[in-house]
Amino acid sequence: MTRAVPEWVADHPDQAIPARVKLRIWEREQGRCSLTGRKILPGDAFDYEHRKPLARGGTDTAKNIDAACQPCNKAKRKLTKREFELAIFNPNMRRDPWPLYVARVEIRLKRAAEKACRRLAAVLATGEA
Ligand SMILES: [Zn+2]
Repeated sequence: MTRAVPEWVADHPDQAIPARVKLRIWEREQGRCSLTGRKILPGDAFDYEHRKPLARGGTDTAKNIDAACQPCNKAKRKLTKREFELAIFNPNMRRDPWPLYVARVEIRLKRAAEKACRRLAAVLATGEA
């Protein structure tokens, strides 16, 4: 049986996210950038960001907050998570191209790593080395 923890809701818009809430979000996201799925490594700059921005009607609650590395979060700006996903591969997006470039590279690296893992698993399964 899992113990239900009441969801954290900010009392006011400028309230800092308490450490225990950050830890719960980090564990929920398994330490991954919520925008690209990349594992956030020690030393990486990352933010807790609103899935749906407050400026767009998002809530200041734990379930609306994700962990994201800073280049991704910077690229996302006031987009929703879905809009970000649609925008990231759209070359016509008129945004600062550098954070978008970093986010694209992250997604490609993640895909390449997953492909390499699948290949290795397949090799190990057949006993060929
Ligand atoms: Zn990221």
